[in-house]
Amino acid sequence: MKIKVARCAGFCFGVKRAINIAENALRELKDGDKIYSLGAIIHNPQVVDELSRKGLEVISDLRKIKRGRVIISSHGAPLETLEEIRKKKIKLIDATCPFVKYAQNIVRRLKKDGYRIIIVGDSAHPEVKALNSIAGKIKNSKKIGIISQTTQNKENYIKEIGKILGEDFSEVKIFNTICSDTSKRQSAARSLLKDCDIMIVIGGKNSANTRRLWQICKESGVDSFHIETELELKKKWFKGKICAGITSGASTPDQAVQRVTRNIKTKN
Ligand code: SF4
Repeated sequence: MKIKVARCAGFCFGVKRAINIAENALRELKDGDKIYSLGAIIHNPQVVDELSRKGLEVISDLRKIKRGRVIISSHGAPLETLEEIRKKKIKLIDATCPFVKYAQNIVRRLKKDGYRIIIVGDSAHPEVKALNSIAGKIKNSKKIGIISQTTQNKENYIKEIGKILGEDFSEVKIFNTICSDTSKRQSAARSLLKDCDIMIVIGGKNSANTRRLWQICKESGVDSFHIETELELKKKWFKGKICAGITSGASTPDQAVQRVTRNIKTKN
């Protein structure tokens, strides 16, 4: 059986950068000092576990800490959280991805100019929560500003824009804030789907961009499976298949992709 790995698999730029920031901070950790991450620094349990072993403690609530340093993940953090960190006088290490910062800056500008801001994305995702906190609640403006979560699927974004354009408005500003890594990753998966009859999508089950990638693969009609590690692979998936495609979410390390590739090669 042939195996093809997508052009854009492994960590994205923003995730690599966040991990480097965390590892550099952990290297400088002095006795008695503590570094916390507010929520998982990236949506990959295996990588988060590895960073925990190096000393990064994941917390869900700032009330639990009185001192130390807090890392903001690549997704950014809501304004209230940043304010709480400032009030507590805890040192902040900002690993927000520059693409996310770019989207945040657009929201700031739209808000200042009185636009009602619509964010197309998963409202429970930390990135969207942060964007929402900046957008505030301008409800009655007929000027509408539309942006997307950086990891949104473009087709879905276009569909949602179509719905919004059905509303009453005087002016609409639309921004393509889907990051270039997400676009490249999705189009690399689509081009693999043309050649493969099975797709393996690697990434955290809690990773929104991995789930979206899996969704794209499933919708193509090709048998597609979402796994976190090679241990979840099942021999029966590959029976009678000619070409297996492998892709991964933005928070999946290259080594995880290599392990899955090796495992499929040796067992099929
Ligand atoms: S997926 Fe894009 S926006 Fe998100 S962290 Fe990676 S590079 Fe940044």
